[in-house]
Amino acid sequence: MPDTSETILEIDLRALKHNFNFLKSKLKATTKFLAVVKAYAYGSDAIHIAKKLETLKVDYFAVAYANEGVQLREAGIKTPILVLHPQPAYFDVIIDYNLEPSLYSARILELFLKVVSEKNKQNYPVHIKFNTGLNRLGFDQKDIAFIAETLEEKSELKIISILSHLAASEDKNEEAFTLSQINLFDEIATEFDKKLNIKPLKHILNTSGIINYPHAQYDMARSGIGLYGYGNDQEVDNKLQQVVTLKTTISQIHKISPNESVGYNRKFVSESEQIIATLPLGHADGIGRQYGNGKTYVSVNGKKALIIGNVCMDMIMIDVTDITCNEGDEVVLFGKFESAEEFAKTANTISYELLTGISQRVKRIVIED
Ligand SMILES: *Cc1c(COP(=O)(O)O)cnc(C)c1O
Repeated sequence: MPDTSETILEIDLRALKHNFNFLKSKLKATTKFLAVVKAYAYGSDAIHIAKKLETLKVDYFAVAYANEGVQLREAGIKTPILVLHPQPAYFDVIIDYNLEPSLYSARILELFLKVVSEKNKQNYPVHIKFNTGLNRLGFDQKDIAFIAETLEEKSELKIISILSHLAASEDKNEEAFTLSQINLFDEIATEFDKKLNIKPLKHILNTSGIINYPHAQYDMARSGIGLYGYGNDQEVDNKLQQVVTLKTTISQIHKISPNESVGYNRKFVSESEQIIATLPLGHADGIGRQYGNGKTYVSVNGKKALIIGNVCMDMIMIDVTDITCNEGDEVVLFGKFESAEEFAKTANTISYELLTGISQRVKRIVIED
């Protein structure tokens, strides 16, 4: 057992490699693989994750915002980086760091084109995002003519790819909707190539899309959550390995009598003699108050211990009455042995939110491949 003397987020690069290979095995050998490493690589550590994926020959990275791409470039990442949500205030930065924006509206296209022209760039790599039903970011099909006119006889921009994003690829009840998104994207792709007389890469799948709609893989697929070990499906989860494990250690153990309370606002009151352990992490570390008051278990020496009372900013208390344990013993919140998906479910949320919420205060420890 690794020696844990504080709260740590363990990042297992062996698991990352396994997941990368598993997801790639679902795609044709010629389909490019884009790894989504936004939000600190889903709350882990974008630099370590990206460096590992670069050695595994990933084709592309995506981040949400320009500054996330800057961090990767400053760490020496050379692979192309797509910026999913570029903002005009950062267009200079995007170009200076050779990041590739996903242009999603007339305003964004024109503003980016202006900055590229001012910097006298030619053939600057960009991507065009289409809205096929998520109604978040993206041009509509009817904007193709505008895009064609705007870029006609201009050599500042080079369209590397066109993309769209699925709204419910993990939900089998929404299959008809997802297929309609794919159909629309197909139409858009054909019309786009014809009107602009180019043949950029096409991509629409995220992790659950790779699993459920592999026929729509086009030239590239984008995976985030799957790389970290979660596939929005129990069967898929069984084949993936959890990359991050959140662990801590027992700071103190209290024996309490019947009718004593634990924590702020006295939300837990004991009915009998109980043994309570205090852990050094709280909502400031990313374990929110919704996990408190008897909803969620952690693992102490392989046994389940309930989180009791209100989660504090820096601490939580657990009930270890029936568990043999000592101060200093290791406690696992989620990851290896129990999944972040199950942990998140206890508070009606999803692995994505739990993982990306683990704060920067928690020390990251990387297990190399
Ligand atoms: C976050 C994101 C992804 C990754 O989705 P997963 O479900 O984590 O695989 C892919 N594409 C876009 C546009 C995204 O915003």
